[in-house]
Parts: sequence; structure tokens; C-alpha cells
Amino acid sequence: MLIGAASWTAAEYGLHRFLMHELRGRGLASVEHLKHHADVTYFSPASKKLASAAVTTAVAYPTTSALAGRRWATAFTAGLLSMYFGYEVAHRRTHTHPPRNRYGRWARRSHMHHHFGAPMRNFGVTSPVWDKVFGTYDDPGVVAVPRRMAPVWLLDETGEVMAEFADDYLTKGPRCADANQLDRDRVDAFANLAPVATGAHDRPGPG
Ligand SMILES: [Zn+2]
Ligand SMILES: [Zn+2]
Repeated sequence: MLIGAASWTAAEYGLHRFLMHELRGRGLASVEHLKHHADVTYFSPASKKLASAAVTTAVAYPTTSALAGRRWATAFTAGLLSMYFGYEVAHRRTHTHPPRNRYGRWARRSHMHHHFGAPMRNFGVTSPVWDKVFGTYDDPGVVAVPRRMAPVWLLDETGEVMAEFADDYLTKGPRCADANQLDRDRVDAFANLAPVATGAHDRPGPG
């Protein structure tokens, strides 16, 4: 099970980098993921996630069974799928809930840097290990977030970065996007470009 769980972190990196970003919208997984980059409130429906869990099982179980037998394959696949579901929860929470500890703070900064700073960096959502192995890791620094895409937990009621997150984030541009901006965000997402923070001359958030 532990081998399966550890293998997930490599699968997460490889799938996110190659199947979702490098393919630039060719194939369902890439389309679904790049739609999430164009609109960070979009998450694939559960039916598609269950389908991808089924595909993962259909590949992982027979392969490990042929290599090590059914008992090992069952444990490996259980570990892999557990981490897959853990990843789904962890990824969604980076967008919907504020951090509660050091790990959560890192996971959010790193993933927001992936979204808003450099979509071809920091592919690991639950772990930086494979980004470090393959040289795609950036220290997120202070993440500049287009205000129209800011996660709800980041902003206070006036639309500025909450004081407790001001060391990690600043926001730029208007809060709402017009239709042209939504189109440009989609084009940029499918080209693996970071979304443009319009109004770059705006007053940055506190900090
Ligand atoms: Zn995301
Ligand atoms: Zn991505």
C-alpha cells in the first residue's frame, strides 16, 4: 500500500505535466484540466473523476498483478487509489479553503504559482519531490494573483488580500472579468501561459 501511495506522487506529476499540460487540449484530461486553468472555479464533475479512477485501476492492477501477484497488486492499487482521492480533496481545498498549517501554506503558494505565475512549473500538488527531481520546481515567492481569479479565502470583504496572507500574495487588476477577458483567459490557459493580470499598474494589495 505504501509503495502504491508513493507511486501516486509520481503519477500525479507525470499525468499533470504530460497528459494535461504538454498535450495543450488534445484529449479529455487535457481539456478538462486547462478549463480549470481558464476558470479556477471549474472542477471536472465527479463522474469524470470516477472514470479516471477506473482507468487507473484497469492499468495498475493487471500490471502489478503480473509482476508481483494478486495480493500485492490489491494492496498497491488500494494505496494508489487512496492517494488519488486524497489528491483530489487536497487540490480542491487549495482553491476553496485557507491553509491551516505549514504544509497547507506551502501547497497553496506552490499551486497558486503554478496557476498564476508559471503553468509549466510546480506540477506536484501534494508534494514537490518530482518537480525537484526533474528541475521544474520554483520557490513560489510572493504570488501575484489576478484579482478576478483570486480564491475566496484569500480576500477580505473589501477585495484586498487578508492581512494574514499579505506576506505570500498580492492581487492585481479588477475583481470581475468581462467576456473578452474570459476568452483571453481560455486562450492563455490552452497555450500554457499564465493569465494576464490586467491593471498591472493598480495599487497592489497590502504587502
Ligand atoms: Zn488548481
Ligand atoms: Zn495545471
